[in-house]
Amino acid sequence: MKSFVCRRCGNCCRWPGAVKLKTGEPEAIAALLGIPAEEFYEHHTRITPDRMHLSLVETPEGVCEFLGADDSGKACCVIERAKPAQCREFPERWNFPGWRKSCGAFADEDL
Ligand code: SF4
Ligand code: SF4
Repeated sequence: MKSFVCRRCGNCCRWPGAVKLKTGEPEAIAALLGIPAEEFYEHHTRITPDRMHLSLVETPEGVCEFLGADDSGKACCVIERAKPAQCREFPERWNFPGWRKSCGAFADEDL
């Protein structure tokens, strides 16, 4: 893969799919948010359709509820310091079919 520079378009956080959580991640996010883990589990997670994983909830539009924007309007992750491995590993170690077409880093390329 050529040098990858994230342009913070936020498209990967709008992609309709599960942000799966690994062991310990719900507790880390809850701690960052300053809420009890039980509250985080109840209000911010759901079981994936295959019932194999826990994932973050999303808005009715399919956007991760933790997608925010900084003062300049660039996308940012509200839970950046505790975001799940799936997010940290995108796109090198985890991605989804067709991700290059959605990723702003390749917006100028003829894919
Ligand atoms: S947790 Fe953060 S990086 Fe991951 S999908 Fe949500 S907003 Fe994006
Ligand atoms: S889609 Fe690509 S450029 Fe946009 S925020 Fe995600 S990684 Fe960065």
